[in-house]
Amino acid sequence: MTGRNMQTRRIAIFGATGSIGINTLDVIGQLGGREAFEITAVTGNANVAALARLAIEHGAAMAVTADESRYSELKQALSGTGIRAAAGTSGLDEAADQGNDVVMAAIVGTAGLAPTLKAAAAGADIALANKECLVSAGPLFMEAVKRGGGMLIPVDSEHSAIFQVFAENQRRALDRVIITASGGPFRAMTLDEMRHVDAATARAHPNWSMGLKISIDSASMFNKALEMIEAQHLFDLAPEQVEVVVHPQSIIHSMVGYADGSILAQLGSPDMRTAIGYALSYPERRPLSVEKLDFARLARLDFEAPDEARFPALRLARLAMERGGLQGAVLNGAKEIALEAFIDGRCGFLEMAEITGAVMEEMRDLPAAAAIEDVFVADGEARRRAAKRVGD
Ligand code: NDP
Repeated sequence: MTGRNMQTRRIAIFGATGSIGINTLDVIGQLGGREAFEITAVTGNANVAALARLAIEHGAAMAVTADESRYSELKQALSGTGIRAAAGTSGLDEAADQGNDVVMAAIVGTAGLAPTLKAAAAGADIALANKECLVSAGPLFMEAVKRGGGMLIPVDSEHSAIFQVFAENQRRALDRVIITASGGPFRAMTLDEMRHVDAATARAHPNWSMGLKISIDSASMFNKALEMIEAQHLFDLAPEQVEVVVHPQSIIHSMVGYADGSILAQLGSPDMRTAIGYALSYPERRPLSVEKLDFARLARLDFEAPDEARFPALRLARLAMERGGLQGAVLNGAKEIALEAFIDGRCGFLEMAEITGAVMEEMRDLPAAAAIEDVFVADGEARRRAAKRVGD
């Protein structure tokens, strides 16, 4: 976005009906609304009524449901509004390729990979919330962004923090990045207690309000595992340069350590709108109505080492980073199946990491992906194997 003036920017919002999508629409309102942004498309999946309502409310030119069977429902909901309805892969492809200046990539899970790649290849700047793009297809995704010529600006709060204090011109002096983790709702639980938790308890995140899957991934620390791999690709780091520290207050969103011992951190209230606003305003900083930090009231910031015995997802992330190739895709694919099984009550909380680890072992010798199809094949195979273990 460097060099562009603040003329109206064309934006497509993938995953508009989700937690990040709704926050993005709020931020767009705060950053000037229709004067500043022309919404070329909003996309969703099952939640067609909400999608249509958002499209109308925010004046989107097009609304896309990823679920083809819901096309007529969407078309009906938009009839007479002049907003175009579309569905399925072709609809998402179209939304990705309409001269967008920026695309908010906030579809949940691997389903976000193909349309985000398409948007990157079309040259849009990518505001990236969907971490699976980098976890499953890191090198290919980074290459697609480079070839497309747009910028990649992280929205994940930890990566936004790192991005904000990462001195690219000091790369030789870079020591490490330190990703902070709240520790989630089970930070202080014993392994035995964790064995019996259910999805309703796991989704109750202490600090952040997020979608269902990422909230449970935060409880198991699979979210942190994905973020470690995401950081590795985004900032071109060696596995040993990626550290995690538990910081229950979620005030420091992450840090970068340099060779002279300096550590730069980004702090703020735990509100995704700051990271979203930064991604949509970069390189500027524009006013947002988010809660200001009051250090006197904060009183203290705590830190502790993460416990890989209780949160084995972190160990799996390290393995995936060290092994490279398609291990990230395998970790993510297997984890998504185990997560769905946990949500439906078909698999225990700790089993999610056991299943994911077992599938990673079975598929550890895959060569690196030469094309995106290889990622989809590995993802599909990891899902099939995980489903077999869950007993589907
Ligand atoms: P939500 O579950 O709240 O929203 C997901 C969005 O994706 C919805 O718009 C949903 O549509 C859509 N969607 C679901 N399934 C599909 C599919 N198969 N194909 C296309 N679209 C689909 O998720 P979040 O907003 O919490 O998270 C979105 C992404 O951002 C995730 O990758 C997450 O890891 C990442 N992220 C989220 C953060 C947060 O604070 N929430 C923080 C950092 C990263 P519908 O509503 O119609 O089902």
